[in-house]
Amino acid sequence: MSETAAVSTRSCTGCTECCHILPIAEPDVEKPANVTCVNCIVGVGCGIYEARYHVCHRFMCRWVLDETIGPAWRPVDSHIVLTHDSDTATLVAQVDAAYPNTWRQSPFIDDLRAWAASPTPECQRVVVKVGDDVTIIFPIGEKFIGPLLPGQTLLVYKIQTNFWTVYDAKVVDPADPRATNAIGRPRVAGPGALRLDLPESAGPRRG
Ligand code: SF4
Ligand code: SF4
Repeated sequence: MSETAAVSTRSCTGCTECCHILPIAEPDVEKPANVTCVNCIVGVGCGIYEARYHVCHRFMCRWVLDETIGPAWRPVDSHIVLTHDSDTATLVAQVDAAYPNTWRQSPFIDDLRAWAASPTPECQRVVVKVGDDVTIIFPIGEKFIGPLLPGQTLLVYKIQTNFWTVYDAKVVDPADPRATNAIGRPRVAGPGALRLDLPESAGPRRG
């Protein structure tokens, strides 16, 4: 874990969390979440670095890429790997199942709520995954969803009046017309729906 991201001074040195926490579901390799890759030398790196899987070449966690994310989020310390799904503009905090409540501690939950409260075109929603269980983080509150089946869509609602704002989320199947019409930013005075298809695999970049 010695390679450094081109736009960041951070490196993977001493960390192999993505090779344990993240699932891989590729045609040539599958690994469940929270199972250490057979090629991983824990805390050191990838035992097949030059020949590592294609998906591993592509991956770099958000902590390495974005130095505005606090030092406490270092995956080997936090046991949380932050990933970004560009297809759905979703920030995913994938948590080590051996530390299922670590994300509820400060500064993690505070940062998650702050990110949820300040959506950008690239990051419109924030979810926590512990194994397959999904919890969507709202600027105010959260909702436990549980596992999402392949193809299922999570609609997120923001309803705002002059007096209060409330958030909610609901799982629907792809055939549901709300799923196909739901891409976009939260609407004020909703319900405004966001589509969220969680990535089935984020894929460690390397060990
Ligand atoms: S990319 Fe993987 S190994 Fe590197 S810091 Fe992130 S979680 Fe750790
Ligand atoms: S980089 Fe990929 S192949 Fe290497 S240990 Fe990590 S998950 Fe396994």
